[in-house]
Amino acid sequence: MILPLSYYGDPVLRKKALPVEEITDEILQLAQDMIETMESQDGLGLAAPQVGHSIRLFIICVPEKSSEEEDAEMVKGVPEVFINPKLSSPSDETGVFLEGCLSIPKVYGDVVRPMTIHVEAMNLEGEIFERELTDLEARVVMHENDHINGVLFVDRIKGKERKVLEPQLREVKREYYEQGATS
Ligand code: ZN
Repeated sequence: MILPLSYYGDPVLRKKALPVEEITDEILQLAQDMIETMESQDGLGLAAPQVGHSIRLFIICVPEKSSEEEDAEMVKGVPEVFINPKLSSPSDETGVFLEGCLSIPKVYGDVVRPMTIHVEAMNLEGEIFERELTDLEARVVMHENDHINGVLFVDRIKGKERKVLEPQLREVKREYYEQGATS
């Protein structure tokens, strides 16, 4: 089932989400619905607060190279579920990338983040796994992990660049959250 999205202005996006205590049928269903929702929107990731659930769970689906060749085509990645993730050891080396967010439609901005990050999380089977992530995968995980801490990518844009986004953010809030909430 495709779930309705929470948009910029919705207080659920600003809450620090609570840990998942147990993998219940509801959690399994939520993860499945989140994957469908993300795919319907062509997103690279989706965090539970973006569909109104203030819990520490997100999914990512990052395109992969079809082979090791330099000019290999990118193919659709496999959705991965991260529950109660713990991020650590961010690299000193950072990169800049134009980010967007399904909860903030039509708004994009350059965000500086570490190039690599270590993540430990639980999967839907309740098993703990660890990964060393780089590049786009690392970035998407950091973006989604921000969501479960009530942080949005625009918070990481400062100064003049942020000022430029302000009217766009007001417009998104009005169009998607305030009007969306009453219709
Ligand atoms: Zn987002």
